[in-house]
Amino acid sequence: MTGSDIFDVIVVGGGPAGSTAAHDLARAGRKVMLLDRAGRIKPCGGAIPPRLIRDFDIPDHLLKAKIRSARMIAPSRKAVDMPIDGGGYVGMVDRDGFDEWLRERAGSAGAQRETGTFESYARDQDGFAVIAWRDKADIERKVRARVVVGADGANSAVARAALPPAGRAPFVFAYHEIIRTPPPGDPAAIAPTRCDVYYQSDVSPDFYGWVFPHGDSISVGTGSAHKGFSLRGSVTRLRQQCGLEHAQTIRREGAPLPLYPAKRWDNGRDVILAGDAAGVVAPASGEGIYYAMLSGRFAADACHAMLMTDNPRALAAARKRFMKAHGRIFFILWIMQTFWYRNDRLREIFVKICQDPDVQRLTWESYMNKALVRRDFMAHVRVFFKDLGHILGLARTPSRS
Ligand SMILES: Cc1cc2nc3c(=O)[nH]c(=O)nc-3n(C[C@H](O)[C@H](O)[C@H](O)COP(=O)(O)OP(=O)(O)OC[C@H]3O[C@@H](n4cnc5c(N)ncnc54)[C@H](O)[C@@H]3O)c2cc1C
Repeated sequence: MTGSDIFDVIVVGGGPAGSTAAHDLARAGRKVMLLDRAGRIKPCGGAIPPRLIRDFDIPDHLLKAKIRSARMIAPSRKAVDMPIDGGGYVGMVDRDGFDEWLRERAGSAGAQRETGTFESYARDQDGFAVIAWRDKADIERKVRARVVVGADGANSAVARAALPPAGRAPFVFAYHEIIRTPPPGDPAAIAPTRCDVYYQSDVSPDFYGWVFPHGDSISVGTGSAHKGFSLRGSVTRLRQQCGLEHAQTIRREGAPLPLYPAKRWDNGRDVILAGDAAGVVAPASGEGIYYAMLSGRFAADACHAMLMTDNPRALAAARKRFMKAHGRIFFILWIMQTFWYRNDRLREIFVKICQDPDVQRLTWESYMNKALVRRDFMAHVRVFFKDLGHILGLARTPSRS
């Protein structure tokens, strides 16, 4: 290794979090290496909100479908439709094309892309971080950097190597099957602009199942924290329930979803985590792409500030900013998941509550724009009392015509 091997930042992991961090740092003029092991498409439903599309300049051609409504299906199989008012939509991306586009953008901004697997983190006598990684030819290589971003997903090897062991974060294991979309007219044809969400204990005892259209393919999946629960068996049943059991299966895959931000994202010196590695997936929904990209952006800003000031304490700003912006909604979603997803009686009430126009509006506004809707105080009050009424068995929900 020579002095010229020294990067300002090495980003490990080229998913949404790492690619965003590498892009932002390279654009700010930093010397960046983006290391990704490649070769595996991230298992993911691929739903992204308009706020992400806007804030991270995602081009339209990456959206394989535009979703205009969600259908919530209760244990009794009663369905509640939640249309998105005002012409808005949820974007659907395929993670192979989406992730590669993000990595490519980081490369175009000046990040040096490398394909290989992170192996270890150490510090040399000059105080630089030394990252050992294995390239495609299985040759071990070493590089030095002033800062390392660990964006290598839920089982982050960077976190294990550089941060003190954290307690086990709450997580669910999510599994889905990518299937070929049946042609129009086929009895199994599904609505191409609607996401279906299943709240039924045989689909998931503690989370939910989904059918998400992606143009010529569909993601059918479920998640659970229960070790003994067969996710494959559940997806088989779900496919039967929607008449998709004979559709061609393209891929079967799964991954853990860490459902709460880690207490520490940095080691107080030269390593910072982002995305799933930092635990930023929203409880109740399992939404992680937007939060991964935002935490990648905040991590990049924190690295930049640290490099400017030579003060490692600047790294802590990323988590603080994130929790200030989204800590409250993560907490609310966590309460929601632990309360409403507990049993079929509560799930039935939960789906019924989703008929309420105030609930629909507040849910879509907060999902689409990633901000709690504070201005509509009376709607929150109405929702609160209606929820209470439902739990006590008092309220009648207006049916949507
Ligand atoms: C089944 C399923 C469905 C989901 N559906 C949705 C959804 O619809 N919408 C949504 O918003 N979120 C969804 N999520 C969550 C979302 O996929 C993640 O939160 C998001 O991908 C996190 O991005 P990331 O960049 O932090 O990590 P990842 O996307 O996991 O990227 C990590 C990257 O690091 C690389 N890497 C890992 N280890 C190493 C190593 N040792 N060396 C080098 N590189 C390494 C990997 O190759 C990968 O490219 C879903 C998750 C699952 C499992």
